[in-house]
Amino acid sequence: MKKQIIAMAASAAILASCGGQTTVKETTNKFDYTVEQFADLQILRYQVPGFENLTLKQKELVYYLTQAALEGRDILFDQNGKYNLRIRRMLEAVYTGYQGDKTTPDFKNMEVYLKRVWFSNGIHHHYGTEKFVPNFSQDFLRKAVLSLDASTLPLADGQTAEQLCDEVFPVIFDPTIMPKRVNQADGEDLVLTSAGNYYDGVTQQEAEAFYSAMKDPNDETPVSYGLNSRLVKEDGKIQEKVWKVGGLYTQAIEKIVYWLKKAETVAENESQKAVIAQLVKFYETGDLKDFDDYAILWVKDLDSRIDFVNGFTESYGDPLGMKASWESLVNFKDLEATHRTEVISSNAQWFEDHSPVDSAFKKEKVKGVSAKVITAAILAGDLYPSTAIGINLPNANWIRAHHGSKSVTIGNITDAYNKAAHGNGFNEEFAYSDAEIQSIDKYGDIVDELHTDLHECLGHGSGKLLPGVDPDALRAYGSTIEEARADLFGLYYVADPKLVELKLVPDAEAYKSGYYTYLMNGLMTQLVRIEPGNNIEEAHMRNRQLIARWVFEKGAADKVVEMVKKEGKTYVVINDYQKLRTLFGELLAEIQRIKSTGDYEGARALVENYAVKVDPVLHAEVLARYKKLNLAPYKGFVNPKYELVTDANGNITDVTVSYDEGYAEQMLRYSKDYSPLPSVN
Ligand code: ZN
Repeated sequence: MKKQIIAMAASAAILASCGGQTTVKETTNKFDYTVEQFADLQILRYQVPGFENLTLKQKELVYYLTQAALEGRDILFDQNGKYNLRIRRMLEAVYTGYQGDKTTPDFKNMEVYLKRVWFSNGIHHHYGTEKFVPNFSQDFLRKAVLSLDASTLPLADGQTAEQLCDEVFPVIFDPTIMPKRVNQADGEDLVLTSAGNYYDGVTQQEAEAFYSAMKDPNDETPVSYGLNSRLVKEDGKIQEKVWKVGGLYTQAIEKIVYWLKKAETVAENESQKAVIAQLVKFYETGDLKDFDDYAILWVKDLDSRIDFVNGFTESYGDPLGMKASWESLVNFKDLEATHRTEVISSNAQWFEDHSPVDSAFKKEKVKGVSAKVITAAILAGDLYPSTAIGINLPNANWIRAHHGSKSVTIGNITDAYNKAAHGNGFNEEFAYSDAEIQSIDKYGDIVDELHTDLHECLGHGSGKLLPGVDPDALRAYGSTIEEARADLFGLYYVADPKLVELKLVPDAEAYKSGYYTYLMNGLMTQLVRIEPGNNIEEAHMRNRQLIARWVFEKGAADKVVEMVKKEGKTYVVINDYQKLRTLFGELLAEIQRIKSTGDYEGARALVENYAVKVDPVLHAEVLARYKKLNLAPYKGFVNPKYELVTDANGNITDVTVSYDEGYAEQMLRYSKDYSPLPSVN
């Protein structure tokens, strides 16, 4: 499962959703986190702080695992649609080999289209899954393709360039062909109407019948049926084509296995070695029992500094939720940031005892969760260029129940999001004055991370239900109330002197930046994600508006928080930070009471009165101001580049990391050096 940063360009405040422990690193000011922007996308880069301090053997391990990560890129392209590799290769051939005028609108728009194809690993939007609309003419593309040296084109045996155009142009240009990668529309045949390449020639009913016949309802440790195969109908017979060595995608999987075996030779310890060996075995057999054995070994490997995901992992791309897209992430533990979550967790009882909620609703014994903060070394497959900020695996429920799961947050990625947002004009537009902007610049990232840590490590785990209270008593309001509870726990404690004492914040002023951004977000700026005329639906957004509107209203008599107009624009002003903290505490006590007693009516009243409705005039103003900033709603990353350093005898003496690669440059390099699959699979 994934925690995503969804479509936001705003400052750290918006990251304070469920998920995302983050870490601040002292990075050089010179590092440029932004690469380029096109369509609705912004490309960023991230640093890998601490890589230099790994041992040579650890660096070597990271290097081999990054190679294994990059070799799987073509798999995802093919999974996302059966024409994707052909289209990518054809467009790359035009992009690099075209001898005509590269400054015409047609060429420039084709370039944007190709950049979007790289970003989405196919011709459908990575998030919305709808097919891109090309802003260049068929005529231009056909002439360009036909002008190329045919040996640079992805031609099938005996195929001419003309025939290639005839085959793939309808897929690019006809909006009725493969319009959605994942169709979830109720009542339609989701398999036949989804463009993903997980099924071929089978209907939804046939696919469902095929897998339900496999399942044994009494099996308490079921494998993840269908996870690693395409389901096809050939000669009237429905069967799985398994992705494994010797099976479908073997050319890529063999390369992955090659690098994994190299990695095995430099594993940090025996348990990590066993993890890698078992993954290799799974790639070789394709047997899903081997996959479960691998997942169990992986979840138990907690002592290694370096960790990785490599394989068929998440099933968001399959409308039936069974078949997994290929992805890889190589990472190592961020010791400093993990220390922070450990400090918070080890003081969990103190926080519980001192919280402002009624003692009847407190836990006598509370245990904090200490999530691991990791530093990503490479993103690949379905985590590239768009990535999650937190990952919780494995997905098999019985393995999670019997053996646990690993929950990680990716510190350097969140850091890159934050750093790239600095200076993008967002806070300058929406914050009231220089004082707030300076406070956010100075403290914003660290306070936001701490708030998230408090939310995750303590907030969700605090408090208790009274005996006999149904945990689902709040029904549809349950998740908003739960997120509000965790957020309020964080808001109340982020201002506590205890945090200064624990050295988690630099001083007693720091929390003010977090209070300001929280209210600015909850009262105003999160509305940029809502279409005009719509209400707020999503639980985290509801919870933020609930909290912000409630304290605004309750503090109105004392002018604790105000909305003021300056030169025709609306701003949030906080006049009394200490009183605001008291109000957060009061709301926390009330929300905990609602949760502990299962007070459905109380939950309904709070959510409906404060969390759902949007002031249309303010909304329009916020949208207009946001639009002027010209920020891209979706972000992705280029990877760093790793290179082996060898001595005269060929022995590896170091692994270097560099960050100067551009977006198109990296994509073309990957397509050249890591592209083992044929165009048709
Ligand atoms: Zn949460």
